[in-house]
Amino acid sequence: MRTNISLEEAQGLVMALGGPVGQDWVTLTEAVGRVLSQDVQAGIDLPPFDKSPLDGYALQAGRTKEASAATPARFEVIEQVRAGGVPTQMVGPGTTIKVMTGVPIPNGADTIIKYEDVRREADTVSIFGPLSPGSNVIRAGEDVVRGETLARRGTLITSSLVGLFAAVGLAGVPVFDKVKVAILSTGDELLAPGEKPQPGKIYNSNLHSLLALCLELGAQPVSLGFVPDERGAIAERIGQGLAAADIVVTTGGVSVGDYDLVPDALGELGATGIFRQIDLKPGSPVLASEIAGKTIIGLSGNPAAAIIGFELIAIPAIRQLMGLEKCLPQKIQAVLLDGFAKASPQRRLLRGELEITGGKSMVKFTGEQSNGVLKSMVSCNVLVDVPAGSGPLKAGQEVSALLVGNLRGFM
Ligand code: AMP
Ligand code: MG
Repeated sequence: MRTNISLEEAQGLVMALGGPVGQDWVTLTEAVGRVLSQDVQAGIDLPPFDKSPLDGYALQAGRTKEASAATPARFEVIEQVRAGGVPTQMVGPGTTIKVMTGVPIPNGADTIIKYEDVRREADTVSIFGPLSPGSNVIRAGEDVVRGETLARRGTLITSSLVGLFAAVGLAGVPVFDKVKVAILSTGDELLAPGEKPQPGKIYNSNLHSLLALCLELGAQPVSLGFVPDERGAIAERIGQGLAAADIVVTTGGVSVGDYDLVPDALGELGATGIFRQIDLKPGSPVLASEIAGKTIIGLSGNPAAAIIGFELIAIPAIRQLMGLEKCLPQKIQAVLLDGFAKASPQRRLLRGELEITGGKSMVKFTGEQSNGVLKSMVSCNVLVDVPAGSGPLKAGQEVSALLVGNLRGFM
């Protein structure tokens, strides 16, 4: 088993463990937020026929060549077609068909002139200038050509993609199954929110922040609740998680204290250790193991470290299981709006919030940075990546940062 590895090695190791889960087919109303399990092709052209982009008159541009204010070209209106209808007549040199937006271009016509640009008197329209053939015509297949790939396997389905599928007549699409993520908190000190406060006890926040993170990701959270620091109890509950979910994430009990029993519990279950500890502050106590093809990730119990560990190690593993093409957080360059007084002998991630000021990416720190402080996670959407061996940071300094929280979608 590897120990004290870099964050990137840890991400690579967990992502290598699991491929996507099974596949399903869902209707368009269920599709948003799911991941395509196969490439999807268009079965038709979009639009399916040449059509009018506006309310106007369909005619042959040739007869308008000499038209002017003094000598307008005149056309006889032979039909009127509303949206959803189809012209039944053919447009000839001196005739025109009135069409609404979206109506197929009548046979014989090569241009559309908008209502506002003509004068209509009884069954005649007058046109006061030359038109060019092909103008104001939306061509069949202008948006999508039949057979074209609309989206590839591994694409997250967005609302506009749902619209595109509907526009080509698809009622549903193939998707990967929702990934079930079991979350377990460990610790003798834990109380469930809603219970009466007790001396020495704290409310279990990790279970809830991580279950909520699963929902944000589009995974299906499975709560395993919490267990005391007892090897057997932890092992039993992880076992339940493995039976119920595709991946198990625990918090607490992974450092080197007397009651850090998650590694022992995994040993009892016969797990294969993948790595233990990463070279990073916060969240260096972390581990990954594998049992029968399923991954268990053990995160630090410190509330901020647990969320950061989940963002950076569990999410890439979960996104891999979801079948997503992109699994790792995006990196950006940004300028610090404020300084950070401490040196960083070890690689450090600092909680910040991205601001666009004068078109530039700026980061302000969100508050107290210690492992246990949760409040500064709330508005955190970037983690400033401070390399090992850095001195204090100054306002105005350029840094690199990882997108998390409400910017995670930019993955
Ligand atoms: P551990 O990783 O078990 O050493 O825990 C580190 C710190 O995080 C301790 O102060 C714990 O009390 C706290 N902690 C552990 N689990 C949780 C939890 N589920 N919710 C809130 N705080 C926790
Ligand atoms: Mg503990």
